[in-house]
Amino acid sequence: MSEEEEQEPYSGFEQGPIRPPSEAFSLLIRITRNCPWNRCSFCPVYKGSRFSIRPLEHVLKDIEQIAKSISLINLRFGGEIYAINEITLNRVLNDAGIDPQAFICAVNWYSTGMRSVFLQDANSLVLPTEKLLCVLNKLAHNFPNVQRITSYARAQTIYKKSLDEMILLKEHGLNRIHIGLESGSDVVLKIMKKGVTKEQHIEAGKKVVEAGIELSEYYMPGLGGQKFWKEHAIESADALNQINPTFIRFRTLAIPSNTPLYEEWQSSHFKKCTDLEIAQELLCFIEHLDGITSIIKSDHILNLLPELEGQLPEDKEKMITIINEFLNLPQDEKLIFQIGRRMGLFEKLYDRMDFKKRSVVQQIIRQYDIHNDNVEEVINQFMSRML
Ligand code: SF4
Repeated sequence: MSEEEEQEPYSGFEQGPIRPPSEAFSLLIRITRNCPWNRCSFCPVYKGSRFSIRPLEHVLKDIEQIAKSISLINLRFGGEIYAINEITLNRVLNDAGIDPQAFICAVNWYSTGMRSVFLQDANSLVLPTEKLLCVLNKLAHNFPNVQRITSYARAQTIYKKSLDEMILLKEHGLNRIHIGLESGSDVVLKIMKKGVTKEQHIEAGKKVVEAGIELSEYYMPGLGGQKFWKEHAIESADALNQINPTFIRFRTLAIPSNTPLYEEWQSSHFKKCTDLEIAQELLCFIEHLDGITSIIKSDHILNLLPELEGQLPEDKEKMITIINEFLNLPQDEKLIFQIGRRMGLFEKLYDRMDFKKRSVVQQIIRQYDIHNDNVEEVINQFMSRML
């Protein structure tokens, strides 16, 4: 697995397959392709795809393409880009040497205020620090008004970087990092082949915080399975209590068929938690968060309870109440909420009182004969479609 740049001709503006939900309005700049680790048992995203580092000059060219596109939108079209017909637009882009793909991204970014940039793919921090600085400098030079530059990073990679390097990156504009903690339990981390220990997670997280960079740590409810759910919850809370990240984000486990964990699940070596068990795990997890000021976000479509959000410590009791409310619902009300949520109709527990939405859910439950014995099977099908 080389961390060297690929030798290849520039083939145009490029973007990777994913970004965090919170980066929906960001300009995506791809500096590496895929994941340099790519071994986590639960992760489907880059399986079968080779990792590579894009040549630095290609990344810089991509940024130039966006900068040229923005100038064109401002100077030539006075910001009225949607009034231009396609033939004129193609001619203008061709004359200016702008890749249409870059132009489309620039238009979207322009229309959402050009406030943030996200560096792709799974672990941009694997790039040598001096190369990252070149990318950050280029962004700062071309887009001085950008308020946030974010990247995904593996804890193991940050663990190997020095605090001074992290401070340097912060000073040059990298002000938010997303790390997949997934679990703070060494047992779970090992089983899931995460390639990092709890101690390394803590050290890496603390380094990011100390450098003054905002930190999102992703916790994965369900990853411990029925066997290790409690250790998973308590150890994760303990790791996060030591890190005190800016954000703790939930991303509930789903198991698509192209992951090694799917085989484990099908052969019953891994026993997947039910929605109810995951709610109990979340209760245990939140009860064990202590002495920190993180913001909890439940901003992933796979999460059962999106309203489980708040600022610690003041909203801790509110979040505990929400989980208990779900756990204490009568069985048929739980079923209605679970199905409505997975259909994308409900965001909050209270949404199930919406007469129209509730009727739609009840109809589906009758039509497909969903009941307590088959609800998990149905939910697994819904969740695999969301990935
Ligand atoms: S490090 Fe992240 S992207 Fe890479 S395999 Fe693990 S979860 Fe997937």
